[in-house]
Amino acid sequence: MSRIDHYAIFGHPIGHSKSPLIHRLFAEQTGQSIVYTAQDVGPDCFDTALRVFRAGGGMGLNCTVPLKELAFRTADRLTERAELSGAVNTLWWDEGGRLHGDNTDGVGLLRDLTVNLGLTLSGRRILVLGAGGAARGILGPLLAQRPAVLVVANRTVSRARELARRFADLGPLRACGFTELAGQRFDLILNATAAGLENQLPPLPAGLLLPGGVCYDLMYGDQPTAFVRWGIGQGAGLSVDGLGMLVEQAAEAFLRWRGVRPDTGPVIARLRA
Ligand code: NAP
Repeated sequence: MSRIDHYAIFGHPIGHSKSPLIHRLFAEQTGQSIVYTAQDVGPDCFDTALRVFRAGGGMGLNCTVPLKELAFRTADRLTERAELSGAVNTLWWDEGGRLHGDNTDGVGLLRDLTVNLGLTLSGRRILVLGAGGAARGILGPLLAQRPAVLVVANRTVSRARELARRFADLGPLRACGFTELAGQRFDLILNATAAGLENQLPPLPAGLLLPGGVCYDLMYGDQPTAFVRWGIGQGAGLSVDGLGMLVEQAAEAFLRWRGVRPDTGPVIARLRA
């Protein structure tokens, strides 16, 4: 009988996660024998859940809200992009039992923005809302696209400032709170806050978006998210959720674990349908 390898996503809340379906579709498409489950795990029980999962034969994991910074601190070895971001969304054990951590959020977002949506980021004014694990993963790859400016705004301003210091060498990055955004204008606004999980919006001043600008919510849902609706209300040329990013970052994790990259197009289309 062929072996079935076990993977999982840990996070809290986790009921909304589409990751099990995405990885099942990847496995079917590539002929890989895996199961992938979702487990409701908060920070307090992360270490225990990790040990139990590994003891049960688990091979690798994804981590989502609010575990990415904890996963970063837990990994024995980090990829360069995980080290840079200070957050980990993909974990796996090597043959010696060492736990490796990677961050596939940034590459997933960039593939969705530039390949799937055909956007150019060079020379653009970009705003990232939020300074948690997701923001950490995307700032480096966004700066590598050479925007005119990248502003990171967060409810807790000190966390945004800490990120601005961390990524200062990579490009024109500024930090502020939401109220300081008044009067600024952007081509692209990315919502990397967890506010949408409670169907809320960060308190954003009107007029933030340049004509024809793009709003992108890292969160996704079966219905348009609060931020996607806000973007439409602000006259965005495009206002979309993060389903494409979700599938792309999952494909990169799948590649890490299984050595084969799935074709994401059909999976995104299937989930949108
Ligand atoms: P996190 O590490 O827990 O960080 C949460 C962030 O949201 C912090 O900046 C926090 O601000 C802010 N926040 C929370 N509630 C807020 C509210 N009511 N108003 C304003 N700001 C609020 O979470 P994360 O891992 O960064 O994830 C953030 C979002 O990105 C989630 O919705 C997640 O689902 C999404 N995401 C999507 C993908 C994808 O593939 N599409 C990948 C990664 C993440 P404070 O610092 O002030 O607490």
